[in-house]
Amino acid sequence: MTTRDELLAQKEDLERQLAALDQPKDTRTPAQQIADLLHAKSCHYNHIDQCGYNYGTWANNASDSTRQKYLRRAEELLARHPGNEAVIIDVLSYVGAV
Ligand SMILES: [Zn+2]
Repeated sequence: MTTRDELLAQKEDLERQLAALDQPKDTRTPAQQIADLLHAKSCHYNHIDQCGYNYGTWANNASDSTRQKYLRRAEELLARHPGNEAVIIDVLSYVGAV
């Protein structure tokens, strides 16, 4: 027979799974996620008229666009640490969080 505590643990697990299903799926590549984090953590410009990051697109091949510069930095990081994208994303997520 299942105990109350076991049922509560199952309930919490199912609630976590439901919450994960409700999250919008992140369609960005790891390099794009890292570029977004690098920009969010390091850019202190005004985003209305001093930084063009939010006006660029991932598909824009203009190498001088702000977004492409951050994307290239992210790709450099990934090239130096292959297979470690999850660690890079995790560490960057913590920068400035304390
Ligand atoms: Zn910016």
